[in-house]
Amino acid sequence: MPVSFCKTERQDRLYKMIGELADRFHERAADYDETGEFPVLNTDDLKAAGYTALTVPKEYGGKEGLTLYEFVLLQERLAQGDGATALSIGWHLGIIMEIFEKKRWKEDKLAFIAKEVMNGALFNRAATEPQTGSPTRGGKPQTTATKVGNKWHVTGRKTFTTMAPVLDYIGVIASIEGTDLTGEFLVSRKKGGVKIEETWNTISMRGTGSHDLVLENVILEDDELVEIATPEMKGKASGWLLHIPACYLGIAMAARNVAVKFANEYSPNSVRGPIKMIPNVQRMVGEMEAELLQARHVLFSIADKWDHTTSRDDLGPELGLAKYFATNNAISVVDKAMRIVGAQSLQKKNPLQRYYRDVRAGLHNPPMDDMTITKLAQAAFDDYER
Ligand SMILES: Cc1cc2nc3c(=O)[nH]c(=O)nc-3n(C[C@H](O)[C@H](O)[C@H](O)COP(=O)(O)OP(=O)(O)OC[C@H]3O[C@@H](n4cnc5c(N)ncnc54)[C@H](O)[C@@H]3O)c2cc1C
Repeated sequence: MPVSFCKTERQDRLYKMIGELADRFHERAADYDETGEFPVLNTDDLKAAGYTALTVPKEYGGKEGLTLYEFVLLQERLAQGDGATALSIGWHLGIIMEIFEKKRWKEDKLAFIAKEVMNGALFNRAATEPQTGSPTRGGKPQTTATKVGNKWHVTGRKTFTTMAPVLDYIGVIASIEGTDLTGEFLVSRKKGGVKIEETWNTISMRGTGSHDLVLENVILEDDELVEIATPEMKGKASGWLLHIPACYLGIAMAARNVAVKFANEYSPNSVRGPIKMIPNVQRMVGEMEAELLQARHVLFSIADKWDHTTSRDDLGPELGLAKYFATNNAISVVDKAMRIVGAQSLQKKNPLQRYYRDVRAGLHNPPMDDMTITKLAQAAFDDYER
């Protein structure tokens, strides 16, 4: 059993619930990875369990109103079963958490999305485009929103729209024509002109359905522009993004479990007893443990700090650090797990080869390593100047 970060009875209860689902999803993961199909059965099960509504605050009708710490705890467990499903639902739950925390949307739109999510609707934000790369770099969206009378006309193409096959609502980031402003539009999947092009065919996180979203003159109501980005919002810390490190750590924990089981059971006739007796294997298991614990302690302590601090905006460098340790340590842990298991880890039926491919995606989710290191350097210089 890995070190537990559950601290309350409620966390134990929710952890058990997601653990059962994660184990079920683990049984399906190889097939979804092989076919590249979106794991609809998994999102259906998550909806049925009420998991997809857990970050709706109680004052908007939510049943649990998860804290960030709890969200990260559950997401890490879910990813042990299926990383692609965890990343997918992590965007949805995390963005819902952010919308209600920042409350930049009008009250009626907040109430609307809360009700929809309580009824099982799924949401994600489509920010990335071929010309901008990661939106965190500050590129201007090529997707445009033009005001015609009292309606918005939105046209463009978004890449990496995770969960595209099952999304009900998409937060589309677009440039507002005639201004330097960027806005987020709440777009229902059912609107005319909204199309999904099935472009997602990667070696990593194959079951996320992160296809292209194409918007062809989609006509929206005035109030479907739910948020306008202001200069003050730039660089604000986003705690909800911790679902990303939680996901990749969960995958690494699954890899560690496979390797430890193998080292306990594999006993070639050149060795007396299983290979766990061999010092080199013990060293690698110990190093995996150290890397996991280092990254998990940083992740959970920063999530806890977020929940309790009154100055969340100062946490950007530490949030980045949690993701930096998690994704890099996850890659290293999976590598060691594969060295322990040897050539059998390369067999397609062995989940380690999937973990190996899946953890790579973490490097390309925000914030990227170079941005985190630059922010940490800046924090050190600021500290010196103070
Ligand atoms: C599995 C997965 C799921 C995703 N889901 C979503 C989603 O649901 N919604 C969404 O909007 N996005 C999503 N993304 C996209 C993700 O957030 C990034 O936007 C995307 O991965 C960046 O793509 P890129 O690395 O090709 O592009 P780039 O960001 O352009 O990076 C390519 C290279 O150029 C360098 N580079 C580019 N610009 C700069 C710069 N200004 N300064 C320094 N270096 C630069 C980078 O360091 C890198 O080496 C997802 C990505 C993955 C892998």
